[in-house]
Amino acid sequence: MNILVCIKQVPDIEKIKVDSAKKVMIMDGVPNIVNQYDTYALETAVRIKDADPSTKVVVVTMGPAQTKDALKHCLSVGADKAYMVCDDTLTDSDTLATSYVLSAAAKAIEEREGQPFDLIFCGKQAADGDTGHVGPQLAEYLNYPQITAAMEVTVEGGKIKANCQSDDGINVISAQLPVVVTMSQTPYEPRYASVKTKMAANRAEIPVLTAADLGLDAAKAGQGGSPTKVVKTYVPERKKGGVKIEEETAEESVAKLVALLSDAGVI
Ligand SMILES: Cc1cc2nc3c(=O)[nH]c(=O)nc-3n(C[C@H](O)[C@H](O)[C@H](O)COP(=O)(O)OP(=O)(O)OC[C@H]3O[C@@H](n4cnc5c(N)ncnc54)[C@H](O)[C@@H]3O)c2cc1C
Repeated sequence: MNILVCIKQVPDIEKIKVDSAKKVMIMDGVPNIVNQYDTYALETAVRIKDADPSTKVVVVTMGPAQTKDALKHCLSVGADKAYMVCDDTLTDSDTLATSYVLSAAAKAIEEREGQPFDLIFCGKQAADGDTGHVGPQLAEYLNYPQITAAMEVTVEGGKIKANCQSDDGINVISAQLPVVVTMSQTPYEPRYASVKTKMAANRAEIPVLTAADLGLDAAKAGQGGSPTKVVKTYVPERKKGGVKIEEETAEESVAKLVALLSDAGVI
């Protein structure tokens, strides 16, 4: 079994403070961490390896040079190998371009490792961008089936079965491998690194893949390959306090509500 886990380094949002006068986030000194859902994805992959030691777990990220720290953390908690995609031409990639680059990275890593991936994990969404686009788009680029918001997975006989979060409860979904799975929160916690595994991760060589290494089509990557246009960014206005209707009886409350809505021209 060969597993790829896509991880993103994000700011630790619990440490972000807001300057309410200037209405901006204070990002200075905020540490970067591995996106939480990606830690669940990695833990799930490492548990599959615990059950079948022939499994290999590879992690990949696309980002600036400092994302190496996130990859080292992944190596310290069970990943066997890490790759970093880093190239100035990929700056300003939106989610579509990011998914394209990751699909090319998956193929390039398969070639280098001499084995195709049976399973590709992503987190269900990133704490900063928060779109949840990348996993499904990556599946489309690779032409693989996708399972989203999985909480637990089992793999057997070339098939995966996943319990997935939904508004109505839990959907049990199965698919043939290879497949892309986006992970939600798992019932188990990601493991911690030990001093020994941290030291080994620090010594590990992390290959860097450039746009040229991946043979990227420049029209699909970086700013030029990003159809998303940010039109405006703003701090949302606080909602005004509502009106509480508490008449003697339910009928009187409904009558008052109807009168208020009618006065406001809503009905
Ligand atoms: C116009 C524009 C310009 C941008 N410019 C930049 C930029 O210069 N630098 C920059 O860092 N970001 C940039 N971004 C943000 C970047 O495109 C997104 O962060 C990225 O595409 C992921 O989207 P998301 O955060 O919504 O992830 P989601 O889709 O919510 O992430 C889901 C999962 O996909 C995987 N994933 C997401 N991103 C990566 C990644 N980079 N590597 C590996 N796995 C990943 C993770 O498993 C993650 O849990 C830009 C966005 C826009 C719209």
